[in-house]
Amino acid sequence: MKLREIIGKDEITLSFEVFPPKTDTDYAAVERAACGVAALHPSYMSVTYGAGGSTRGNTVKIAGKLQKDYGVTSLAHLTCVGADRTGIYAALDEMSRAGIENVLALRGDIPKDFQGEIFTDYKHASDLVADIKAYGDFCVGGACYPEGHPDAANKKEDIENLKNKVDAGCEFLTTQMFFDNNIYYNFLYRIREAGITVPVIPGIMPITRAVQVKNAVKLSGCNVPERFRNIVDRFGGVPDAMKQAGIIYATDQIIDLIANGVKNIHVYSMNKPDIAEGIQKNLSEILKLKI
Ligand code: FAD
Repeated sequence: MKLREIIGKDEITLSFEVFPPKTDTDYAAVERAACGVAALHPSYMSVTYGAGGSTRGNTVKIAGKLQKDYGVTSLAHLTCVGADRTGIYAALDEMSRAGIENVLALRGDIPKDFQGEIFTDYKHASDLVADIKAYGDFCVGGACYPEGHPDAANKKEDIENLKNKVDAGCEFLTTQMFFDNNIYYNFLYRIREAGITVPVIPGIMPITRAVQVKNAVKLSGCNVPERFRNIVDRFGGVPDAMKQAGIIYATDQIIDLIANGVKNIHVYSMNKPDIAEGIQKNLSEILKLKI
């Protein structure tokens, strides 16, 4: 099913993200984790794509399996950094053969040790979006950054570039993680003002281990509010307590979003079925509500 149909329904959706293994040795464990998340029957699941296409086969394999064995619609990520058109078309053909109809089109981060030409046929995600739309019958989404992309000169330019990406054919956007919902609400206001009208699905990252905070900030540059820092300071040293607090903080963010009219929620469940299940259980009655 196309994602535009799932997120277009008058229902609250809760979806989860998993990542494929970097090496084939880890495949079985990762597949088990992804299937554990799929067994919760989320609205859909996204499967990330390793830097520079390093996980291409496994992304498609896992995304295909979630659909075939669990009936969970999948959204396969695809990056264009270091890729040429032939390679992208080959990836899209592979996805089609696996029954994947939804692609999150990304530029990707530029790997530090990359050898060769980094930008050949694609320079920005918008180039990839346009090419995927022209190539096949895919529902295409893209990424957005409520706190601004780290490479962007400023937020205004970042939003102008985002508008180009949407105009190229992006049907929905998923946000980078954020820990303060006001950042999302302000961003939404600014992009609507700029004429971006597609659904903007908030990406919620449950931080259930203290070490994740440092990594999250390093990767995304996102702001960590005082309230959340206090939680990590108090519970970070006790794994079970931190896990519980992290699930509750993420749930609290989601409840606030839904209370403010947001109906599609994506959770970076990081191959952790127990965390996905914890959040889903906390929202069990809320998820039954009609819009
Ligand atoms: P773009 O949309 O191309 O934007 C990147 C930068 O270029 C921005 O600063 C933008 O303002 C600027 N820009 C865009 N268009 C133009 C233009 N025409 N002229 C000048 N500047 C321009 N990475 C992975 O490797 N694998 C994944 O699976 C993955 N999944 C992700 C999922 C989500 C929801 C998010 C938020 C990020 C994900 N990433 C993933 C990370 C992403 O690849 C990086 O953040 C990357 O640096 C930017 O990708 P993008 O698609 O947002 O790029």
